[in-house]
Amino acid sequence: MTSLPLISVDPDARGRRPSMPPRHLADLDLPGRQALVTELGEPAFRAKQVSNHYFGRLVRDPERMTDLPAATRERLAGELLPTLLTPVRELACDDGATRKALWRLHDGSLVESVLMGYPDRVTVCISSQAGCGMACPFCATGQAGLTRNLSTAEIVDQAVYLAGVAASGAVSGSPPRLSHVVFMGMGEPLANYSRVVAAIRRLVAPAPEGLGLSQRHITVSTVGLVPAIRRLASEDLSVTLALSLHAPDDELRDELVPVNQRWKVSEVLDAAWDYAATTGRRVSIEYAMIKDVNDQPWRADLLGRLLAGKLAHVNLIPLNPTPGSRWDASPKPVEREFVRRLRDAGVSTTVRDTRGREIDGACGQLAAAGDTDGDSRAATA
Ligand code: SAH
Repeated sequence: MTSLPLISVDPDARGRRPSMPPRHLADLDLPGRQALVTELGEPAFRAKQVSNHYFGRLVRDPERMTDLPAATRERLAGELLPTLLTPVRELACDDGATRKALWRLHDGSLVESVLMGYPDRVTVCISSQAGCGMACPFCATGQAGLTRNLSTAEIVDQAVYLAGVAASGAVSGSPPRLSHVVFMGMGEPLANYSRVVAAIRRLVAPAPEGLGLSQRHITVSTVGLVPAIRRLASEDLSVTLALSLHAPDDELRDELVPVNQRWKVSEVLDAAWDYAATTGRRVSIEYAMIKDVNDQPWRADLLGRLLAGKLAHVNLIPLNPTPGSRWDASPKPVEREFVRRLRDAGVSTTVRDTRGREIDGACGQLAAAGDTDGDSRAATA
C-alpha cells in the first residue's frame, strides 16, 4: 500500500509512561480555535482557514496552505496541527476494500483503525482508548487492559486521516467520501465519555468546523455503561447506539461482558429502550456467536422475547477467535437456526460480514500493543 509511509516502531517508545498528547485544533470548537489563534497574535479568521484545510480539504501539510502568509504557515500548523498519529503499518485485504492502520501516539501507545469500502459507502472503525479496561474474555483488546484514554483530537484524527486516504481513491469500487464512523475499534467509548462526545461533535459539525458527517451515520458501541447511555440520550445527538449484549441471561453475560456484574441485562436494555425512545434511533444489539457458549436455540428464543416489539436490530457477529482462545465461532447451521428463531419472534436480524479477518482487523481482533515486532504478516503490507 502506498498511501501511508511505513516506518519502524521506535523501541525507545515502549515502556514510556502514557500521557495525553499536545493540544490540537480538533480538541476545540470553532470559537475555541479563534480564541487560541488570537492568543497566538494572529487574526481570528486564520482559525477558519486552518480548519478548512484540515476538515474541508483534508490537507495537513503547511506547504499546501497557500492562503496563509508563508511566514506564519509553519508556526500556525505547528500550534494547531501537531502530529498526533504516526502511521506504523498499514495492511490491506478484501482486494483493497479493507485497510487496517496501526498508529503510534506521541507517548508510544499504539492504536488501530480500520477503513472499509463498500459500493455505496465508506466506513471507518475508530478507537477511543489505547487498550480497554472492560476485560471481555473473547476480545483481543480486552486482554491487555487499559493504557489510557485518547484525546478528542486523537479520536477525530483517525477519521480525518482515513477520510484523506479514501479521498485519494485508495479504496477502489467505493465512493471517495468518508460517510460512516463506528466506534468499534479499541476501547470502551462511554468510558472516555466527554472526549468521545466532543469527537462526535467535531465529526458532525459542518466544515470548516468539522467533518460534516450525518449523525445517523455515526455508531457508538458500548458494553452497556448504563449511566453513560442515559447521559448520551440527553446530548441532543441522534447517533446510533450499539449495545454489545452477547447473552440474554445474566449468568452468561456476567462472564462474557464482566461489566454486567454491575448493570444487569434488564437494566441495560431499559437504558437502550429509553435511548431509542428519546432519539428515535433503532438500537443495534451486537451478539458474537460463540460455539456452544451463547448460540443455543433457547437463548435465541429468550433474546427474541426480550427484543420483540422494541426499536431494535440484532447484528450477529461470527466470533473472530483471538490467539489462544478456547472459543470458536458457531457453525453456520447453528447460526442460521439462531437467525431463524429471532426472525420468527419478529426481531430484525442480520449477520455481520467478517471484513478484515486476515489482517486481524475484524471485530475484537485489534490488539496493537502485542503486535509491534514486525511479524510475518507485516511483510504482506
Ligand atoms: N467497547 C465497545 C466497542 C468494542 S468493539 C463494545 O464493547 O461495544 C465492537 C464489537 O466487537 C463489540 O460488540 C464487541 O463485543 C465485539 N467483539 C469483540 N471481540 C470480538 C471477537 N473476538 N469476535 C467478534 N466480535 C467481537
